[in-house]
Amino acid sequence: MTPVHPVYAAMGTTIFEQMSGLSRELGAINLGQGFPDEPGSPDLIAAAARALTEKSNQYPPSPGLPELRDAVAGFYARRQGLNLRREEVIVTSGATEALAAALLALVRPGDQVVLFQPAYDAYAPLVERAGGEPVSVALSPPAWAYDAGKLEETLTARTRLLILNDPLNPAGSVASEAELAAIAEVCLRRDLCAICDEVWEDVRFDGVGHRSLLDFPGMAERVVKIGSAGKIFGLTGWKIGWMCARGELATALGRAHQFLTFTSPPALQWAVAEGLAKPDAWFAEQNGGWAASRERLAAGLAEAGYVVLPNAATWFLCVDLPASGVTLDDRTFSARAVREAGVASIPVSALFDGVDDLGGPRHVVRFCFTKPDAVLDEAVARLAAFRRKVIEERV
Ligand code: PMP
Ligand code: GLN
Repeated sequence: MTPVHPVYAAMGTTIFEQMSGLSRELGAINLGQGFPDEPGSPDLIAAAARALTEKSNQYPPSPGLPELRDAVAGFYARRQGLNLRREEVIVTSGATEALAAALLALVRPGDQVVLFQPAYDAYAPLVERAGGEPVSVALSPPAWAYDAGKLEETLTARTRLLILNDPLNPAGSVASEAELAAIAEVCLRRDLCAICDEVWEDVRFDGVGHRSLLDFPGMAERVVKIGSAGKIFGLTGWKIGWMCARGELATALGRAHQFLTFTSPPALQWAVAEGLAKPDAWFAEQNGGWAASRERLAAGLAEAGYVVLPNAATWFLCVDLPASGVTLDDRTFSARAVREAGVASIPVSALFDGVDDLGGPRHVVRFCFTKPDAVLDEAVARLAAFRRKVIEERV
């Protein structure tokens, strides 16, 4: 008998690592896994370097440096009007650790946890490993809208939690106020807690400020809000994240975190604290750079004959393959495009647990646009030629 836990025995390698691995091996342009090519803010990198030489390199307090916990609370007060205290913020090694800690802290054996699909691929296995049972609600392109009625239909006496990723990766869509209010209403009436993965809260291109489910009346006691400096500052390798919650939730999260990683590198915590204190104009400038890349890739793909789905957030654009005249399914497209065109992408069905059972989309591919202009232009040229080749194969 295998000594391996069934969740891991049955698991493959995440699509992000698969695609980045193939890109490295083949020398392809990597528009798959989401990360900027730019080195990141020189200010923040200098702050981390200074902290390495001038400050302590020993264990920080397990819930995080007080300076960073205050900076997270201050950032959310300023930019989202939230009223969080230091004790309500726990620093983690990226949002991925926050998700794991939150699920370990809140899921009891046999609990059902609602996942909206498509979803970050860590959710389902983490729920299962925590002893829970993932239950999926499908979202559909092009709007990927939340339907409280469909949510309600999946609930049973065993449902205790839902995970809401807003803005949504991979779609880049954003839940409306009305959709959030309807989800909050279901949570209150059915006594559910929500783990709100809001890592994309600050990567937004529609000029609308982020609103957390935590901000809806009655929700502060039942929400864990998760954020990531990796996304806010485009420094994905730093893996500094956090989770915010009240009262007994916060206490339980701190207990789970102390025996997962206990703490995270102090120099990076210092630097992120400095970064979060930057003025709004600084964030607007950073997002302006990403917005320009987004426009460039969208225009290039459209010129090349690809139909780009509407979105408002994240570093990603999604393409509708059949609407673009491409009859390959998403996995075949991604597998062939990385080999034959030298461009890596993410097939959205890889982020859709139970895609067959739920009739999920198999015709949408995700591209990351946070790359220099020359890289985007070369990728577009290669994808244009690849599209022509695939269309010609059929005639
Ligand atoms: N949640 C979502 C929805 C994400 O897109 C990502 C990373 N792309 C994460 C969590 C993980 O964030 P981190 O790198 O901070 O662990
Ligand atoms: N979530 C990131 C993305 O969407 C990847 C994160 C990872 O690879 N762990 O690209």
